[in-house]
Amino acid sequence: MPPLIFRKGLDLKHEVAEVLSESYHSDLVTSIKDRDYRYESGRLTIHLAREFGFCYGVDRAVDYAYQTRKRFPDRPVVLTGEIIHNPHVNEQLRAQGIRFLTDPGESIDALTPNDVVILPAFGVTIELLQQLEQRGCTLVDTTCGSVLNVWKNVKRYAADGFTSIIHGKYWHEETRATVSQASNGGNGHYLVVLNREEAEVACRYIRGEGDRAAFLARFEQAISPGFDPDLHLVRIGCANQTTMLSSESLQIGEMFRAAISDRYGEAEEVWRFRAFDTICSATQDRQDAVSALLDAQPLDLIIVIGGYNSSNTCNLARICEPRLPTYHIAEPDCLLSSFEIRHKPVGAKDERISTGWLPQGRSIALGLTSGASTPDNLIGTVVRRLDALVNSAFGLSK
Ligand code: SF4
Repeated sequence: MPPLIFRKGLDLKHEVAEVLSESYHSDLVTSIKDRDYRYESGRLTIHLAREFGFCYGVDRAVDYAYQTRKRFPDRPVVLTGEIIHNPHVNEQLRAQGIRFLTDPGESIDALTPNDVVILPAFGVTIELLQQLEQRGCTLVDTTCGSVLNVWKNVKRYAADGFTSIIHGKYWHEETRATVSQASNGGNGHYLVVLNREEAEVACRYIRGEGDRAAFLARFEQAISPGFDPDLHLVRIGCANQTTMLSSESLQIGEMFRAAISDRYGEAEEVWRFRAFDTICSATQDRQDAVSALLDAQPLDLIIVIGGYNSSNTCNLARICEPRLPTYHIAEPDCLLSSFEIRHKPVGAKDERISTGWLPQGRSIALGLTSGASTPDNLIGTVVRRLDALVNSAFGLSK
């Protein structure tokens, strides 16, 4: 019998609505939105970005996970990995007895038809899906529609003989799933570029200025099996991991277009180059909103809340960092005191503690935003903690 796959929820939306609200909603955040995204208390003013927090894809994935637990109370429920990149949400799911295949001691080989497996919002590779199907597991697929849109584009590139150039992180779950689609069962090729610098290396190769061995060594982990830069960079189609910095993705697309034009002439572009902007609208909205927040009023600093492995959160911090002091924190506990903060600086691998982060002796205007996998209740807790830190420092704590 083919495995059962749920792709549109499990008809229990209303039954889990209350527990989802209790777990992730914040009345404080709702009231800040109602007050023009502004929170004022004593010497503290917080300006909240107009788009922040849970996106439609994450909302749906978390909803389906709770529905799955409710629908199968007596069967093992397993996630292929983190459902989204937020430690708080993943812990909440563990607390309900949902296991993670990536945990020590877990193995796909141990799964049986009795197991219910949830596929995350970023999707899974074709190979993993096939393995799960072979084991006969019941599947709950929460892959976001915006990720499916990227897959549609790279599959079309492969079918038409174009190599997919993906602006993304080759190690990220979403990009691993996307390249498996771009491979088209071994008939398609791909190259993943992380940033403008890597795009420039590939563009130089297209122009005939690259070194083959150096190219293959540099992109060893970011190219399809059998990738030959002399053969597979002659017809290319650009796409992006959905959560990249959209301005950078557009620039990278333009760099590749120009390289193809320089090498083969403008007239050849039409059948050697394609591009689709596959940044999702939720990512775009959050990036636009934080840029608008930075432009709207003077701020002393900005706090960005979200998992350190959350691509879209890291990119929100990247937008802010050239403009003003930026602190990317994973959780409210990172606000250690009015003197110390635990955070991950833009571009750093690890978290660190900085001192003297909060201006003293005057009123403070803060910007606040959060990534697409951060629930409102964490934002509410951060606001309350900031209030206590700022106003208790001045003896105004309520
Ligand atoms: S960030 Fe975009 S692609 Fe990812 S889950 Fe959210 S809406 Fe979907």
